[in-house]
Amino acid sequence: MADDCLFCKIISGSIPSDKVYEDEQIFVFRDINPKAEVHLLLVPKVHFASLVDMQQHHDAVMAYSLRKLPELAQQQGLDSGFRTIINTGKGGGQVVFHLHMHLLGGPSLAGF
Ligand code: AMP
Ligand code: ZN
Repeated sequence: MADDCLFCKIISGSIPSDKVYEDEQIFVFRDINPKAEVHLLLVPKVHFASLVDMQQHHDAVMAYSLRKLPELAQQQGLDSGFRTIINTGKGGGQVVFHLHMHLLGGPSLAGF
């Protein structure tokens, strides 16, 4: 847990969220400003800021997170597919510096 990290506070419950799934490694909730019919944020519970800060000991939770995405997408009814985004750094559009994966899907998903 990092001081002054929005997502650490959401994981601890001190800031409310629309939680979709939680286990010992990850926390998943709905984006407050959705860019698609389904827009989830999957957050590893361990705090690290971005892919730039990813260390070897994060490999397991990252692989676990990636494997959870299709399961979550299926639960959300995204039978035909979904998009995954990891914004990295200010230049990559990242605004919350606790690594997270966006899971997006639905009929109006724009082309990329
Ligand atoms: P990023 O640009 O990759 O850092 O994405 C951060 C995301 O967090 C944005 O899509 C925001 O809409 C979302 N967000 C910010 N605050 C909250 C919050 N309190 N609850 C849910 N999502 C949030
Ligand atoms: Zn954090």
